[in-house]
Amino acid sequence: MSCRPSEKKTTVLVKSDMSTPHQTIQDSSNQNKYQVLFKNNPQYISKGFDYPVGKPNAKGYYNAQIFQKNNHLGDDWNGIGGGNTDLGDPIYSISNGYVSEVKDYKGGWGKVVRIIHLYKNELYESLYAHCDTMVVRENTFVKKGEQIARIGNCDGVYWAHLHLEIRDSINMNIGAGYSKITKGYLNPSDFIKGNRH
Ligand SMILES: [Zn+2]
Repeated sequence: MSCRPSEKKTTVLVKSDMSTPHQTIQDSSNQNKYQVLFKNNPQYISKGFDYPVGKPNAKGYYNAQIFQKNNHLGDDWNGIGGGNTDLGDPIYSISNGYVSEVKDYKGGWGKVVRIIHLYKNELYESLYAHCDTMVVRENTFVKKGEQIARIGNCDGVYWAHLHLEIRDSINMNIGAGYSKITKGYLNPSDFIKGNRH
């Protein structure tokens, strides 16, 4: 299944999932690398989380497809104006962190930004998909609320929206966007709500 916001632009283009072949092995050296990076740059350790649109409380937006609805592995943030009214709107980092990937996956994913967060001594990853433009560079630090990208429509595949995932397992494969198996994935809105500031 492709990423399906409630307002889908077309019924024609349905892919089996949002994924493209991409192998990333998660290993302990990876974990250590980020622990060291944050230890040396403690001002970028996360102290809490905000929403990625309408900062800091998602004002002007709604979650059109909540976590696990249709087996969705993220949240779909849409502007309350509907359609493409939110195209080009700013997307903000949900917390302090380190930009681990800025990449155009094309297909059902489009342009994706991934950010690693160290929060209460655990590593998390936030993933922002279908972006129009991306305004951060890979391997740089960001602050909570800093603009990282603009809301896109995945090159016309969907009406514009932000697909947001939060993972408690970092550097996994890009994934399918949809699955009954949620290991490694958190309910983004529940997590943000429970960990403000
Ligand atoms: Zn989605």
